[in-house]
Amino acid sequence: MSRVALVTGGTRGIGAAISTALKAAGYKVAATYAGNDEAAKAFEAETGIPVFKWDVSSYDASKEGIATVEAELGPIEILVNNAGITRDAMFHKMTPQQWNEVIGTNLTGLFNVTHPIWTGMRDRSFGRIINISSINGQKGQMGQANYSAAKAGDLGFTKALAQEGAAKNITVNAICPGYIGTEMVRAIPEKVLNERIIPQIPVGRLGEPEEIARIVVFLASDDAGFITGSTISANGGQFFV
Ligand code: NDP
Repeated sequence: MSRVALVTGGTRGIGAAISTALKAAGYKVAATYAGNDEAAKAFEAETGIPVFKWDVSSYDASKEGIATVEAELGPIEILVNNAGITRDAMFHKMTPQQWNEVIGTNLTGLFNVTHPIWTGMRDRSFGRIINISSINGQKGQMGQANYSAAKAGDLGFTKALAQEGAAKNITVNAICPGYIGTEMVRAIPEKVLNERIIPQIPVGRLGEPEEIARIVVFLASDDAGFITGSTISANGGQFFV
C-alpha cells in the first residue's frame, strides 16, 4: 500500500512541486494551504491531490486538520513542513506583528504540525520528516531578522528531533533552498532580482521548484534511511556551509 505524505503549503510554489513529485513517485499525498482558496482549488482540480485548509500557526487547528487528513487517507508517514511566509522589514522598522507572524508560521508551525504526527510515527516505527528551511536561515539576511531567526530555528529543531527519532526509524532532515522562482521571490522588484540577487548566484539563475521537490522525493525514499539530522543546501553555489 502506498505511503501517505502530507505537504504543508503544498498548493503553491515549491510545495506544489513537492506534492506533485511525491504523487508521481507513488505516494498518497495531501496538500495544505492557509487561505488562498482559488489557488488551492485550481491545484486540486489539476492534480487530483486533495487539499486541506488550516493555519499551521495554530496548534489546535493543526491537530484537527491532521485528524481529518488521517481519517481520509490513513496515517501520515511522510511529513514535509514547507508552509512559510515573509514579512520583510529592516529591524528598526520591524513590528512585533511582523516578527510574530513569521515565527508563528515558519518556526512554531513546525511544532504544531509535527507534534500531532510524531507519536503515530513512533508507534509504527517509521517516519520521514523533511523541513524546508532557507539559505537565509544559514547565512542571515538583512531585512529578514524574523525570517532568518525562524529558518535557523528550523535547523536546530531538525537536528534535535533527528536524535529523538533515530531509534524509531524516523529520519528528520532539512533542505535549505536558495532563491527559487516562486511567487515569493517573483514579488521582489525585477530590478533588485536582476541587479542584486541573480549576480550573487554563481550558476546565474534562480532555482526551479522541481529541483527542491526531487530532493524531497529522495529524502522520503527507503534509499535515504541512513540520512538524518542533515541539511541539504540547494542554492546554485551561493553559500557553502
Ligand atoms: P509560496 O508563497 O509560493 O507558497 C506558500 C504556501 O504556504 C502556500 O500554499 C500558502 O498557502 C502556504 N502557507 C503560508 N502560510 C501558511 C500558514 N500559516 N498555514 C498554512 N499554510 C500556509 O512560498 P514558496 O513556495 O516560495 O516557499 C515555500 C517554502 O520554501 C517556505 O517555507 C519558504 O520560506 C521556503 N523557501 C523559499 C524560497 C524561495 O526562493 N521561494 C527560498 C528558501 C526557502 P496559501 O496559498 O493559502 O497562501
